[in-house]
Amino acid sequence: MVNHADAMKRYAKLVIETGVNLQEGQGLIINSPVEAAEFTRMVVKEAYQAGAKNVHIEWNDETLTYLKMKNAPMEVLENYPKWKAQGLEEMVKDGYALLTMYGENPDLLKDIDGKRIAAINKAGGEALSTYRDYIMNDKVCWSLVGYPTVSWSKKVFPELPAEEAQATLWEKIFSITRVDQDDPAKAWADHNETLRQAREYLNGKQYKQLIYRAEGTDLTIDLPENHIWHGGSGVSAGGIVFNPNMPTEEVFTMPHKYGVNGTVKSTKPLSYSGNLIENFSLTFEDGKVVSFSAEKGEETLQRLLDTDEGSRRLGEVALVPHESPISQSKIIFFNTLFDENASCHLALGKAYPTNIENGPEMDKQQLDEHGVNDSLNHEDFMMGSAELDIDGVKKDGSIEPIFRNGSWAISFS
Ligand code: ZN
Ligand code: ZN
Repeated sequence: MVNHADAMKRYAKLVIETGVNLQEGQGLIINSPVEAAEFTRMVVKEAYQAGAKNVHIEWNDETLTYLKMKNAPMEVLENYPKWKAQGLEEMVKDGYALLTMYGENPDLLKDIDGKRIAAINKAGGEALSTYRDYIMNDKVCWSLVGYPTVSWSKKVFPELPAEEAQATLWEKIFSITRVDQDDPAKAWADHNETLRQAREYLNGKQYKQLIYRAEGTDLTIDLPENHIWHGGSGVSAGGIVFNPNMPTEEVFTMPHKYGVNGTVKSTKPLSYSGNLIENFSLTFEDGKVVSFSAEKGEETLQRLLDTDEGSRRLGEVALVPHESPISQSKIIFFNTLFDENASCHLALGKAYPTNIENGPEMDKQQLDEHGVNDSLNHEDFMMGSAELDIDGVKKDGSIEPIFRNGSWAISFS
């Protein structure tokens, strides 16, 4: 086992080389919590070593975010600064890669009025739509990685003192992202190969429908014609191989936005903009959520669904075997990047246009006609379990098992 300082160094190298796969002469944007400054400096050093021309840091601080959300007048929350959106847009248009260190305190905005959160999310979503298009269409390389902030660590390990909780979460992140293996880059290449086999199998099948069954779940999801399954590494418009999520265990595609029917029950809490939604059910008709309930956070769920028309429809369907390392850790991370990789999941909101043939070239109307959902939101929620069965319906109507008892019913090779 490598010591903590070495593991951090290896992690920094991994996110630059395997995560965003930074190229000579390229720029890099990093979103980082201020408390990750030490680690961020290590990452920046690796970036310049890889030939970065410039590294731009967007610092964030949860206390400052909270103070603003609590005190700023609505007109400030409703108006995302144009200069900032323009600056970010300029950078991605110049080919900058994007690295986000994600360690959000899931309870941060618990006592903030939901209207205020909705306002700032909506303003940001609209102002950053071009910037977000660059990311969601893989026009630039991007990577989302975990950083164990103290507040997040304490949420995951509430029984431990702060420092110990953080050290424990670091260890979990190192093992889940394969940093503790002899050659992390090689381990990622092997892992990506497994995911490649799964997605190619599914791409070959072109199922027209997926049928989900588990306790509380009876759901049919239509898949659009020429949908594409992705998983593991992606390829940017410029042909660079990168890893958008670290960790990642999923293969995923898009549902048809008008073709989802039945009920789905969540199996893990969903952390949505500083609030938790727990034990919830959604019922769909022709792709749209027509009723819902939640044991906890129902108001937050309502707010999520009411953001816009597309927030009531699905934008992603993802398969993750129940024996994935994150699932086996038995830890609830209260962090979507980690929890989504422990479980089959669906996303409410925007679909990735890259999940359908020629998607990135389609305009809004064409996307709609092909069943591609659009929204300011894209929120993964977990619905997989050791009981979940999934069948695939082929174009000729025949049915094949895909998942049994939460795991692949197919062996790849
Ligand atoms: Zn996903
Ligand atoms: Zn997603």
